[in-house]
Amino acid sequence: MQHTPNSMRPHIVLTGRCNAGKSALMNALTRRETSLVADTPGTTTDPVRRGMEWRPFGPVLMIDTAGLEDNSPLGGKRAGRTWKALESADLVLLLIPPGVWGRAEQDLLATCRRRGLPVLPLFSQADRGGPDPSAVGELAAQCLQPLAVSSRRPEGLEKLRQEVADFLLARAPRQLSPLEGLVQAGDRVVLVMPQDSAAPAGRLIMPQARVLRELLDRRALALSTDTADLPAALDCMREPPQLVLCDSQALASVARDTPAGVPLSTFSVLFARLQGDLAGFARGARAARRLREGDRVLIAEACAHHPTEEDIARVKLPRWLEECNGVRLRFEHCRGHDFPADPAGLALAVHCGACTLNPAELRRRQAICEEARVPLGNFGTVIAALHGLLERVLAPFPESGTLLEDQVPQALV
Ligand code: SF4
Repeated sequence: MQHTPNSMRPHIVLTGRCNAGKSALMNALTRRETSLVADTPGTTTDPVRRGMEWRPFGPVLMIDTAGLEDNSPLGGKRAGRTWKALESADLVLLLIPPGVWGRAEQDLLATCRRRGLPVLPLFSQADRGGPDPSAVGELAAQCLQPLAVSSRRPEGLEKLRQEVADFLLARAPRQLSPLEGLVQAGDRVVLVMPQDSAAPAGRLIMPQARVLRELLDRRALALSTDTADLPAALDCMREPPQLVLCDSQALASVARDTPAGVPLSTFSVLFARLQGDLAGFARGARAARRLREGDRVLIAEACAHHPTEEDIARVKLPRWLEECNGVRLRFEHCRGHDFPADPAGLALAVHCGACTLNPAELRRRQAICEEARVPLGNFGTVIAALHGLLERVLAPFPESGTLLEDQVPQALV
């Protein structure tokens, strides 16, 4: 359980106004002092994350957040981080303290509804008093059934554990595996994984490690190689492989060396399907060849790392986008959870493989862009589009018929 990456765990976010009992509930549910508890408002400043086993469902990530109505000088920034945490939620636990009901709760419910975030309201600190009658009425009108809980009483907690487990078992999105529908036992798969100066020392990056592990689990035969050695690797095989997978940056060269009849895709495209909506990324990527002078392009990475000379996000991708379109572009960058809430005005957004995000957060980013009519591709689909290879890297997928439909992104119509 401890080794399940956070990106593979449903995210449960505790939210509510200051001193609603979020941190005490977090500690009671995780059965340890994960969050600092005090009567002073604003004790929790940044979101606190803790992985735990939610029986009988399995591993989840609990996220305790700062209070929504924090009027301190840093309150605005804290609220911003709380909203970012909510973007990743598979389930929101909204804590409503005794006798309290107001704008904070109403706005949060309205936003969750608009963004399709499932909410379970909790009348918290039930040992201290009952709920405000208008809270009961308004929640009932929205068909929400709150639970009364107290971090000091086991009865409410047990009911909450059961209710959340039922929700997760019924509604948590089923996790695909990277190679689902692509590889069978006994298949031969070639992995082209050049390790340039941007690669971490002494280990593989997560997408490569996960694919290699799945090939072992599926009892497929893996042959790993650098780009330059691909022709030799293919020559030494008695029959062609069932699949070639490569790093997106090596795609042009790998496509030249891989015979036309051999299915070819990239790790980044695999992760676009695993974490998000691949058809949406494929549509967004087509805009990468239709950029005009001075267009704004956002490049988003889900984790922070020190950019190198060969950096894909800062150096290569901007260069390829400008060369392919023959124009100068204005690039913007964001990292981690800092994806813009309103991307309107961008001509294109390009997301990394997002291997550290959970699917809920990546899909919400796709929805935000769709709403703002901003085409969003990911590194894999955009690089393939720039090289004229989008159809080829999508063809191996069982759902390729839908993926290959050419729907022009709205922003460019
Ligand atoms: S989160 Fe994005 S930038 Fe970070 S390793 Fe994964 S794909 Fe690369």
